[in-house]
Amino acid sequence: MADTYVEINRSIMAQNARNIVAKYPEYGTFIGIVKGDAYGHGYGIINALYDNGIRYFGVSSTEEAADFRKENTEAPLLCLEPVAIDRLAEAAALKLTLAIPDMEYLKVFLDCKCDYPFKLHIQIDSGFNRLGFKDKQEIKEAADMIESSPYTLEGVYQHYATAGIFDPYYDAQQAKFRELTSLLDLSKIPLVHLGSGIALMAHKKPDIATATRMGLMMYGYNISPDSYGHGVKDRLRAMRDEYYHKKYHLSEVIRDVELELTPAMTMKCRILQLKDVNKGEHIGYGAAYTADEDMRIAVLPVGYNNGIGHHDHGRVVEINGRFYPVVGEIGMNMMCIKVDRDVKSSDEVILLGDKITLGMFSRFSGMGLAEIMLGVGKNNTRIYID
Ligand SMILES: *Cc1c(COP(=O)(O)O)cnc(C)c1O
Repeated sequence: MADTYVEINRSIMAQNARNIVAKYPEYGTFIGIVKGDAYGHGYGIINALYDNGIRYFGVSSTEEAADFRKENTEAPLLCLEPVAIDRLAEAAALKLTLAIPDMEYLKVFLDCKCDYPFKLHIQIDSGFNRLGFKDKQEIKEAADMIESSPYTLEGVYQHYATAGIFDPYYDAQQAKFRELTSLLDLSKIPLVHLGSGIALMAHKKPDIATATRMGLMMYGYNISPDSYGHGVKDRLRAMRDEYYHKKYHLSEVIRDVELELTPAMTMKCRILQLKDVNKGEHIGYGAAYTADEDMRIAVLPVGYNNGIGHHDHGRVVEINGRFYPVVGEIGMNMMCIKVDRDVKSSDEVILLGDKITLGMFSRFSGMGLAEIMLGVGKNNTRIYID
């Protein structure tokens, strides 16, 4: 067993997939976003999703697609970023669905006259100002060009910059998408997909949508805006949201999303050494920490080399169901925690998972949710359990 590792539970991934698909029967196709090595979970989870209703996938690059195909050769797979023209042969071998970001790309692509019957998705820029078409006429022209080519226009999509929990920009983006696609007959395009997991959870299905994309939530995180508690601050926040919605006539936000999702990733390590430290002694780099009492510490084989970052905003780890704080600086490969006499050198330490939620980890490290999953998942030995 590696000193530090992540456990990925495939049965949990399968259950999350079943719960999502059952919750949103109004969507015909679920596109599981598995970029970033499936948010650090690795492509070993693909079939747990595929066998449980998530039947289409999205990756970011040809490299990711190649890794995906080692696990699954049949699932339709959209490359969200435009494949370099000189790699179309690879894309064909990987049976990729291509995203078309603009007219320049489309023209060069059509000129290549590939043998492979590529399926294409037109990307619409509804206000993100990243990839995608911004001109209505051009979008129509692109659709016509594809229609008279040997390829299939299978999809059209955009990506939201905001989720509209209390901002007016969500509605504006959706209106923009409708406007930009108004010259197309959307009913003839099998997959019209908008947004991401948060948009799926927080809003009713837009009538034009036939498919949806989601990332984070598949891995077990309920990111819906129902996380408000009942404290004074939470009530104030809910009131603010309501005020914005009335003021700007915004579309309704669904808050109480009852959807059972369980995190599939747990990060664990062993203890390298237990040590007694006397009051007044220093611990770690820069002698930055001084023991304010006699204490016992445990040295852990975890540092920023394991993808957790180097910030420590009150980080704790879990041992036998109890929390223990980090003391001293987090190094490249090691850090120390303050323990008590109950902790034994053979005890298992949990850094993420069980009582240590992703939200807590985010506060400890100052990292974003997906960023944590990537850092932890990609930088440690992965062990799949079924
Ligand atoms: C990453 C990504 C998603 C998934 O977003 P989540 O917030 O993880 O649900 C969906 N669509 C596109 C285009 C993406 O890049």
